[in-house]
Amino acid sequence: MRRDCSLLLRSASLRSLHDIIVALGLGADAVSPYYMFMTVLDESVKPLVNLYSALTKGLEKVTSTIGIHELRGYGRLFSSIGLNEEVADYLVVVNFFGSNELAYNFEAMKEDALKRAEDFQNEKERIGKIFHLFPRIWKAIGEVASTGDYSVYREKITEQEASNPTTIRHLTRLKKAETLVSPEEVEIGVGDHSLPFVIASMSFGSQNEIAFRAYAEGADRLNMISMNGEGGEIKDMLGKYPRTRGQQVASGRFGVNAELLNSSNLLEIKIGQGAKPGEGGHLPGSKVTAKIAEARNATIGSDLISPSNNHDIYSIEDLAQMIHELKTANDQARVAVKVPVVPNIGTIAVGIAKAGADIITLSGFDGGTGAARIHALQYVGLPAEIGIKAAHNALLEAGLRDSVELWADGGVKSAQDVIKYMLLGANRVGFGTLSMLAIGCTTCRGCHLDTCHVGIATQIDSEAQAKEHGLRRFVPRQFDQAVQGIMNLFTAFGNELKSLAASAGIKNLQEAVGRSDLLEQIKGNDLLDLTYLLKPLEIGQIMHQKEAAASLASAQLQVAAGAEYLDAVDEELHQSREFQAVTAEQRVLASRVSCHRVRGRLDGSYRKLQPLTLRYKGSILGNGLGAYNTDGINIEIDGGGQDGVGKTSFGGTILIAKSPGKDGGFYNGYVGKGFGYGAQKGLLVAQGNADARAGIRLSGADMIIGGLVKKPIPEKEFGNIGTNANIKGFAFEYMTNGRGLVLGDPGPWICAGMTGGVVYLRHQPEMGLTKEAIARRVAKGANVSIETLSAKGISDVKELLANYIEMVKNHGQESEAADLALLLEHPEDHFIQVVPVKEQADPAVSTE
Ligand code: SF4
Repeated sequence: MRRDCSLLLRSASLRSLHDIIVALGLGADAVSPYYMFMTVLDESVKPLVNLYSALTKGLEKVTSTIGIHELRGYGRLFSSIGLNEEVADYLVVVNFFGSNELAYNFEAMKEDALKRAEDFQNEKERIGKIFHLFPRIWKAIGEVASTGDYSVYREKITEQEASNPTTIRHLTRLKKAETLVSPEEVEIGVGDHSLPFVIASMSFGSQNEIAFRAYAEGADRLNMISMNGEGGEIKDMLGKYPRTRGQQVASGRFGVNAELLNSSNLLEIKIGQGAKPGEGGHLPGSKVTAKIAEARNATIGSDLISPSNNHDIYSIEDLAQMIHELKTANDQARVAVKVPVVPNIGTIAVGIAKAGADIITLSGFDGGTGAARIHALQYVGLPAEIGIKAAHNALLEAGLRDSVELWADGGVKSAQDVIKYMLLGANRVGFGTLSMLAIGCTTCRGCHLDTCHVGIATQIDSEAQAKEHGLRRFVPRQFDQAVQGIMNLFTAFGNELKSLAASAGIKNLQEAVGRSDLLEQIKGNDLLDLTYLLKPLEIGQIMHQKEAAASLASAQLQVAAGAEYLDAVDEELHQSREFQAVTAEQRVLASRVSCHRVRGRLDGSYRKLQPLTLRYKGSILGNGLGAYNTDGINIEIDGGGQDGVGKTSFGGTILIAKSPGKDGGFYNGYVGKGFGYGAQKGLLVAQGNADARAGIRLSGADMIIGGLVKKPIPEKEFGNIGTNANIKGFAFEYMTNGRGLVLGDPGPWICAGMTGGVVYLRHQPEMGLTKEAIARRVAKGANVSIETLSAKGISDVKELLANYIEMVKNHGQESEAADLALLLEHPEDHFIQVVPVKEQADPAVSTE
């Protein structure tokens, strides 16, 4: 019967976007939040229209962040915390810390609804204020940063947490030990590092240069880790902090290349962030100054949008492949994977550990240093406590807890928070917002506006510049002071952590990781039942965490089963080599060559080394061929490549030509998915077709895809455009720079999110590749224009096409070369150009 009728929910208690999406997720086909509309009603229709369009946009955002294209595909994709089981059972949702005893049952809901109705009718009633902690503590944190004294802050934060508990951990306290330990006896170091703190990843772009430098320098002086968010490194910082600086690889691939990967032995793959899971970042063009553009290999002033997911990770196998790639491109690196806390995080953590990660970073919903949207901040993600416990237990059960470190971040505000996270199962704890507070942030939450009055979340450097921007108040940061602030803060936190550990009788804090029995619930028993959280798992408790740092020394080479790894011998990596009939079992070939050229030559001197050529004849090579390629490495293939060929190249050439068949014809030349993802320099050529997402986030490299239209494209197309095209969809998505040349059908949904660079497309009306057909291929919502070739376009096409013809000739295909040479005479008759319409996105929607 359910299929034969629709359910419309009309209710006055639908009060927010969150309520609406929950109702739809539970099964409503349509909702009528009529009281919301009545509340905004006035003489004009404008408020109604605004509310309607805001809610529609909101629904689109919620469904898209979870990877769903249609609202009706959104099901019960949420979880709850602290519902009485009678409610959770009825709704069939995952419910954390629930029990039959809790206050929040149907009766309580009814009372709440009646009270709200009463309040609504009462003219005098005012909307309740949401409690915000930061405005009450930022000054006290500033004191810790300037004096290094924790005592005033301890008092302040303890008082706040006691009177306004806002997190799960606020309902617990450390049990006092019977035999006390002196704080001096306590060891809080982990691996090679003296402090178990991490300055959580923040990018150059979201942070001003002085702040960005201060995090790295301060952390290094204290011998603790600071993570660079994806966004490139300032050149002189590359390799400066090999032991304490980690580099991030996220979906944007901004500034990620072989130099960056070899500047540090800690690489973090960011899959998502707890404060805005499922959303990519967005750096508005106004923040993309010359320095930022250089670090990110982007164009000055163009918006930099990060895809919402890593377009080379769609499964745990893809993640394993990417970890393998990073460990090949820097064969001494430890790899961390950062994920938001979601209901099944335990299973996910086990998958990540099995995929070969050394560290799993769990990011809680609380926090977010940039400008996550208010709706995301208030309603999205789960607390870190849930993730730490679930991941720790699942890894213990799987026997994998010893092989990975667990890190956690999200809303950490005190040393109490740190020790609680560690007792629940974290080895290290990350700080984002607090690190910003240490150097003067006032938590005004205006990061996205580019008007930060203390010069942290802005690229304004001087008071004069600030004036030009219309800022009335501006106090630029001083480097030495900022570094001192970081050092004072974390030293004070370290000392406090020692005292806390001592009070619980802990001598070595790493040995107490996972000892949740040292915590007790002291309040809120009618709100949350923390029995599960605080009960340690009873199987084989960990005695000693084998620090992932220890595995650093043993550089591992992952060899595809059954294949002799062609890049195994170090001495051969600097020589030109030629191979025959290599198969897809050989993955990530040539990346180790890139690693060994670049390592130790981060000043760019590797460019002076003798160039080398790697030839693979009659071969179809495995995933990740030439990933993180660099200058001086020329890769030539007769045959084809799989997924991820030339991803994130920073120079060099990769030429994939067809290979001769027995009948004298030439075949293949294909590449798999994500060809040249994030490539910043160099030339990438495929003579055949490319699978989906060729040229995604192209950031400066040249890319040529030579597959040709074989049979005419019908005037009216009714789907299957991708199947018949020469690129199978989503080409040149999120492109920021560089040049693309396509000789055949570019396929559907091209150029979405493109903000820079240019794509030259073949215009071949005799084969049905008309301008209309091309226009149909541009993604809905792509902000691009299709134009006739400019003078620059003509010279670009001539240059790229001449290179391509040369390659075709060199591979013995004279007649194809001759055909193509005809196009060189008047490129403007055969090609059009697609360029982004330069527009600054609304800063209010930026999230970096
Ligand atoms: S804009 Fe406000 S919240 Fe953001 S860094 Fe500056 S002071 Fe802090």
